[in-house]
Formats: sequence, C-alpha cells, structure tokens
Amino acid sequence: MRVKFWGVRGSIPTPANSDQIKQKIFKIIEKIPEDSLGAKQKIKDYINNLNNVYVGVIGGNTSCVELRVKDKLFIFDMGSGIRPLGNQLMKNGFLENEKEIHIFLSHTHWDHIMGLPFFAPAHFPKAKIYFYSVHPDLEERLRLQQDFRFFPVSLDNMASEKVFVKLDPESEINIEGIKVKNKKLYHPGGSYGYRVTYNGKTFIYATDSEYKNLNLNDNKPYIDFFRGADLLVFDAQYTFEEAVHKEDWGHSSALIGVDLSVAAGVKKLALFHHEPERSDFEIYSVYKKAIDFKNINYPKSKLEIILAYEGLTLDI
Ligand SMILES: [Zn+2]
Ligand SMILES: [Zn+2]
Repeated sequence: MRVKFWGVRGSIPTPANSDQIKQKIFKIIEKIPEDSLGAKQKIKDYINNLNNVYVGVIGGNTSCVELRVKDKLFIFDMGSGIRPLGNQLMKNGFLENEKEIHIFLSHTHWDHIMGLPFFAPAHFPKAKIYFYSVHPDLEERLRLQQDFRFFPVSLDNMASEKVFVKLDPESEINIEGIKVKNKKLYHPGGSYGYRVTYNGKTFIYATDSEYKNLNLNDNKPYIDFFRGADLLVFDAQYTFEEAVHKEDWGHSSALIGVDLSVAAGVKKLALFHHEPERSDFEIYSVYKKAIDFKNINYPKSKLEIILAYEGLTLDI
C-alpha cells in the first residue's frame, strides 16, 4: 500500500514565492557549522546576487499584474496572483488611504478570475472596485463563479462597492487623464488587450492571444496597437514549435513577440503567461532563446526582453 499526497493546501493554490525559497536557503546556511564552510555572510551575499531562476521561483500563481499610474491603482486580471496582491494592499493600509481599485479583465477563463473570491479588499465596504470588461455579461460570469454550489461566499456578499463598466470593443476610455484603449485578441471566447497611456509613457497588457499569420502585414493591427510601448506584457506560453502545432489554442510564443515588438518599436518585452508544464529552468531557456533570436535577426534593435516572474517590479 502506498499513499502519495499531490496537493495538501486548502482553498486556493499557494505556490512558494522567491522570498520563501530564499528564507529556506538562509535557514540551511545557518545550520552549517561555522568552521566547516567559511564566512556565512559571504555565502549570503553570493546567494543574494544569484539570478532569481536559481534562488527563487518564477512563480505558480496565475495572471495578475498591478500597475500604478498617477494616483491610481490598476490591476490586470484576477488570477490567483491577486490574493497576495490583496494581502499586500491590506498590510499597507489600503482601506485607510486609497480605497479605489480599477480592475481590467482580458477575459474570464479560470486562470484570469479565480483569485477574486480570495482578494481581501473586496470583502470590505470601504473598498470601491471598478471592473472593466468588453464582455457584456462580466457580472453574471463572476456571480456564477461564486454560486453557492462552487464557493460559500457569493459575489453580492463580498462587502465592497462594485461598479461594472462595459467597454466597447476597440474603444478608448479616459480615467482622469489616463487613456486606456482595448483591442480584441485571437483567443477562444475572445480576449482583450489593454494599452494604457499617461504622461508620454505606454504600458500594454496583451495576454492570451494567438497570431495566426506570421507575416507582418497581417499583423499590422496588432503592431499598431503595440506601437512605441515602453513595456509590452506578452503571451509567451508556447515555444515556437508548439505555437505552430497548437493552432487555434489561442496562445503565442516569445519569438513571435520579438518579431512584433521590433516591428512596433517596443522598448521592453515581458514574456508572460508561462506554460504550467515547464520548470523554471525550461522557462529560462525559452527566454534565452528569445534573446538569441533577437540578436541574430535584429542585431541593431534596442528591444530589451525580460522574463516576467512573481515579484518583478519595473519602473517605466
Ligand atoms: Zn484564456
Ligand atoms: Zn490564460
């Protein structure tokens, strides 16, 4: 008889984060007898300078990106990553200070909405949450996710004030001078990318998207949407070979991201929505290949490619 546990956590996936991995490593170092392995501080410094892929994790939470713009808090998607974000907001006194959140939904596949029931600020009456979506029935979909058959607390019983804003496809809205434009992406059920522009800077969130034809002419609408972005968050779930074989699965590859970014004059390309089957080192090799691809095919391009991992913070 053999028993093997494949999941022991309740309520929601809670993958380890980089800080927790580092804490473990430091605890191991503490246990090393001083006389057997030189100065512990030197080892700690060495570990602190290692790349996150060795000493931390890329992360197992699903899609959620925080954007601070002007005095506003924008959140893109409510995957399980919104749980630690909500906890951080509560720790920082969100309910006393900010109170307002603007959440933009790409679409309502599970990996993009499953975190909402665990988003702490949503359970307090002081919080006011705007939900933006091109899908007309977002509220109904979220209500269904928290139907009592699936979750004990209904959407209506989450105490925060909720405002649902239906966006017209391919339209632009203006939130106190911050422009947010959406674009339909090719994905089962439809997914939408967002282009946020403020004070001459542009952030783009474009995940869950397949680019059917690789020639630049066919991709012109996307290239126009990505034009000149300071940061483009891009669906890089597949390798190039997988992207070719998994036609109509609705995802893209890092190499396509490089082609489109160079054509659009994007400054930074963040590889995002990593394939769950891949280990951190495999994801890192996808990233390395993208850099090689860029250097070989576009040696003069100044495009910077980065690997999105949990906790990564960038100023643009
Ligand atoms: Zn999806
Ligand atoms: Zn997804």
